[in-house]
Amino acid sequence: MDSTARHILNLHRRGALRGALGLAALAALQPARAQPGMPIFRNYPFTLGVASGDPLPDGVVLWTRLATDPLASMGGLPHVAFPVTWEVSEDDRFTRIIARGEELARPELGFSIHAEVTGLAAAHSYFYRFRSGREVSQTGRTRTAPAADARPERLRFVSAGCQHLEQGHFTAWRHVAEEADLDFVFHSGDYIYEYRGVLPSQPSWGPILRTHQGDEIHTLDHYRQRYAQYHADPDLMAAHAAHPFIMSFDDHEVDNDWAGPHSEEAGLPPFPIAVPPEVFALRKQAAFQAWWENMPLRRAQLPRGPEITAYRRLDYGRLARLHVLDTRSWRDDQPCGGTPAVQRPCDALGRPDQQMLGTAQEAWLMDGMAGATWNILAQQVLVMPRDLPGGMVNVDKWDGTPAARERLLRGIADRRLGGAVVLTGDSHNAWVADLKLGDAIVATEFAATSITSLGDGSETLASTPELLSRNPHIHFHSARRGYSLHDATPARMAVMQRVVPYVTRPGAPREDRGVFVTEAGRPGIQRG
Ligand code: FE
Ligand code: CA
Repeated sequence: MDSTARHILNLHRRGALRGALGLAALAALQPARAQPGMPIFRNYPFTLGVASGDPLPDGVVLWTRLATDPLASMGGLPHVAFPVTWEVSEDDRFTRIIARGEELARPELGFSIHAEVTGLAAAHSYFYRFRSGREVSQTGRTRTAPAADARPERLRFVSAGCQHLEQGHFTAWRHVAEEADLDFVFHSGDYIYEYRGVLPSQPSWGPILRTHQGDEIHTLDHYRQRYAQYHADPDLMAAHAAHPFIMSFDDHEVDNDWAGPHSEEAGLPPFPIAVPPEVFALRKQAAFQAWWENMPLRRAQLPRGPEITAYRRLDYGRLARLHVLDTRSWRDDQPCGGTPAVQRPCDALGRPDQQMLGTAQEAWLMDGMAGATWNILAQQVLVMPRDLPGGMVNVDKWDGTPAARERLLRGIADRRLGGAVVLTGDSHNAWVADLKLGDAIVATEFAATSITSLGDGSETLASTPELLSRNPHIHFHSARRGYSLHDATPARMAVMQRVVPYVTRPGAPREDRGVFVTEAGRPGIQRG
């Protein structure tokens, strides 16, 4: 018996059964006959579900994270490495297993598993699961990308993000789980919110359904715990188990409205005490490590200190090329005061050297925009300019870096990309807009609303009619919660907003809002 098994056996003998997890209790009652290296868990270890992500033509990443007690430090596990087996099958009963392997769930990485499976068939759906000791995980379904030279007839995906745990039920994720034939789900970030749990005495936006554990998060252990609190949601778990995800992050995975080396706490009201960049770097390091541990990402995205290379490209044959962008790590600090994000315009908005992507990522994007019918920029903050009431400007969006936006749109125009589509999150509202360079429409932006953030929401806001009349390039605005569903062929992309009428009660039905169509070779909205 190696030290791992001995350690767990000791834990098993010592541990009192906890009633919450029925399956786990059963497992713990079985006689502790351990094979060498075979862990015996006191409680069920797959409490955080399974996920897959970043599909390639020959494989995907399979993810899980062991935790017998999700909210406890280190998930309630002893600090040893646990062997975990993964299996990929043609059928959901695992009678035709076609690939199998073993990885270690290491304490250094929060007991997460990231199995980069290869050797699978292109454009093919598979089932997968994990085993450790006697325990078996839930079954997930995933799908590989088409071959590099394939010309698929269809690509179907969801764009979604902003899932504040306290502000609503993840019903929209349940509806995503039930979507048929998705190739992938793009997550635009705000997977967690870093804020402290709402206090009973605190004024809030509405009813508090469930509460973040603890204070605002700053340390690795606390970021891990926050992810565990989110992953334990059954609707989110079901969405991960149903489709591969392509993950990005926005601000709340680290700190509200952070920008490059700058935290939200800039030394101006309402944050009079600034956080020095070298101190904020330590928080970013903890936040990125926890993000990587908790997402189905490849080792290429493992952070190095306070830096992470999250921008990357995923191809769906010749039909679509997805450019996943990072609009936080190398952007300029928000100009014109910056906090709150809606400010009066200032001279800094006229600077020609403004950065949203940073020079390296911008050059990488320009080099790679080609080669597919649809070039999809999967990113976070609104690219569309918005003429807001009162002449105000939201400096956290691309409106805060108009010179960077102009370079982006000029790059698209110069390459004559007939199918440039931007996916966006962050604003907690759905928007559909033509993106213009001068008078020419060069791309189309589809911003998904939030899964829960800002609560039940409403069909429109009081400001919507004025917003739409001041901004004729914007075709649609909704303040409902939900996601956007994209159906692309070589000729057209149809995009539907799928919304839920409420999130403060469980079980909301799915409702469909306007379908907008953009045609390949004709940027902008043709039909709505
Ligand atoms: Fe958000
Ligand atoms: Ca955000």
